[in-house]
Amino acid sequence: MIRVKNLTKVFHGETDVTALTGINLNVEAGDICGIIGMSGAGKSTLLRCIALLERPTEGSVEIDNVDISTLSGKELTRLRKSVGVIFQGYNLLMQRNVLGNVCFPLELDGMKKREREQRAMELLEIVGLRDKAKAYPAQLSGGQKQRVAIARALAANPKILLCDEPTSALDSFTTSSILDLLTDINRKLGVTILIITHEIGVVNAICNKVAIINMGAFVEQGEVKKVMQNPESPVTRMLLGIRGEEMPCGK
Ligand code: ADP
Repeated sequence: MIRVKNLTKVFHGETDVTALTGINLNVEAGDICGIIGMSGAGKSTLLRCIALLERPTEGSVEIDNVDISTLSGKELTRLRKSVGVIFQGYNLLMQRNVLGNVCFPLELDGMKKREREQRAMELLEIVGLRDKAKAYPAQLSGGQKQRVAIARALAANPKILLCDEPTSALDSFTTSSILDLLTDINRKLGVTILIITHEIGVVNAICNKVAIINMGAFVEQGEVKKVMQNPESPVTRMLLGIRGEEMPCGK
């Protein structure tokens, strides 16, 4: 579903920043794959490359066997719709109520008012927020805002949902409920999920695959059970809180 081959991303400026080097990743249909690493490791940049928001400097990203670098214009717009994204900080429109927020991408897509409101209400049902349709973002809790963001990301029936630190601002109870919702979306709607996080608990709770990233490169990846039972990289061991591991500064 997602195939990243030898991806390198350099940000050019006064001094060039190499955010990612030699990234290879295969996410199969139906996976919930976690990308875990410390702050500045390159997680968001990778997500932005997969979300078609950044162009790789080298290498490629394939979505459903299509190399996205070969696309432009309408083809790119069409492919973008098959990838839903939940950003850190929710990115809700504060002047619109919950229904208006979920309707927004459908409105941009030219769907008629009645149809889009019906679809938005179905999505609000899925995320358990039907009764909040008329509320404004300022009247919602963090967990509820995240549910609105998830409903909006699902509006175009994406095959893939990319989640950037979806629970980093939430308490542990709300985190569990959001992770349960993502698992439901994966199982019931068949959406493949890629989740960026710095919390090992998130990976253990819902992911079947994991890749550990440090200083722009993967240091270890595979089935969650295998990696957790036998962590080979010092970075993984440190993220797992294994005693004796110090902050690593390379592979
Ligand atoms: P993470 O999400 O793991 O915290 P990021 O992907 O945000 O890491 O950042 C990885 C590296 O790339 C950091 O050194 C960061 O400063 C740099 N970086 C990210 N975005 C840009 C940008 N637009 N321009 C220049 N450097 C950037």
